[in-house]
Amino acid sequence: MTTEHVAHADALARAAADGIDFDGLRVSSEADGYTFETPVEEHTGLDETGLRDVAADSAYATNWYFWHAVAPQKTDRWAFLRWLEGADGGDEAASDVTERYESLADGVTTEWGQLLVTATLGETGRRRYYLRHVDDVDVEAAALANHDDPLAARDLAKRDERGRYRPLKTAPSLRTGWRLADLDPAALVEAVEAFYPATIANWHRERAGDLDVNHWRETMERQTGMYGVVETWDRGEGYEHVNWVAEACCDDSQCLKRREWQYDSTTDLDVDGGDGVFPCREPCSVVIAAARTWTKLEAEEPRTYEFELTPSEKEQLEAVIDAVADGRIDDIREADVYEGANRYRTRFLRAKLFDDEGNLAGVPTDPDEHGDTGDDADHDDADHDDTSEEDAGGADDDETEVEADDD
Ligand code: SF4
Repeated sequence: MTTEHVAHADALARAAADGIDFDGLRVSSEADGYTFETPVEEHTGLDETGLRDVAADSAYATNWYFWHAVAPQKTDRWAFLRWLEGADGGDEAASDVTERYESLADGVTTEWGQLLVTATLGETGRRRYYLRHVDDVDVEAAALANHDDPLAARDLAKRDERGRYRPLKTAPSLRTGWRLADLDPAALVEAVEAFYPATIANWHRERAGDLDVNHWRETMERQTGMYGVVETWDRGEGYEHVNWVAEACCDDSQCLKRREWQYDSTTDLDVDGGDGVFPCREPCSVVIAAARTWTKLEAEEPRTYEFELTPSEKEQLEAVIDAVADGRIDDIREADVYEGANRYRTRFLRAKLFDDEGNLAGVPTDPDEHGDTGDDADHDDADHDDTSEEDAGGADDDETEVEADDD
């Protein structure tokens, strides 16, 4: 009998005095001794040595020990780990310990955003966990960069495949090519939290019916200082702008969270919140920072410009906007000249339509101020510089992360 077996038999003998009823294991202390009962065996009238002996050989006993002495006891983490192996009561067959152990022996794999979490069975019922990118599902472990420290997740989450800083940890831009191996339950949770901060807690709150959602309106009303300007977006124009913000930022193609916040508690946005497994309970700082920029831009009055474009040129401008918005620019090859956003076609359009100052079709943006370097122009530049500085912070400064929003 291993030390581990002794430890779990000791723990079970101590708990038996108060009775155990967990995952099909029932242990009680009766007048004639201990009763030990599972779906596959039943013993009565056991003395303590007898109880220890039957417990040492029982999967139900090691399972009880894992969930009460090894797994993190914080409610949300515990529930998450149970969910990973189908032990949360949703599936009766999977909840049976014997079948669950058989499944764990092969590995039970679950997606969590772009993570693939595999739970396996270790010694005496201990679970071991493995993490990799969903796109690496078929890649040999030896071909991946293997780590056994959950802290490696912090670095892996920081930059995308091309080395660019990821200001939004739940953006679907997690890099591939790595594997976190042989993690204990606490290390697994730590790694998942490093990849996707607070997602376990919010997932659990939602399942318990306790997700406290802060909608757009109340979140904006809380903004002070540099973000206070966002409040001005409510100037009786309804919530159309907020629909555009959600469509731009919170779509599944941009963020893996499922947006649960709306305009306010009585006014839903028109755009879909997405299908993510973990919920978003309030506008994040990335969205607030973007909205601040859009607020400034949307404060401008529209003007009428007159350009002459061929039908193909108009369609090409639309194709360029689509390609940039959908992040497809890198997928359009130089040879794809039928694509409106093809680099050669775009350069041709610029060569044909831009004047030396970069004005489309030679039409200045502001005819009244064309060439003017007076106060108004200076003011605009100052505004622009301020915005650029903040945007650069969000895009490149590692200190400017969105984790603060994720609680
Ligand atoms: S507000 Fe929520 S859903 Fe929208 S981008 Fe931010 S984290 Fe994602």
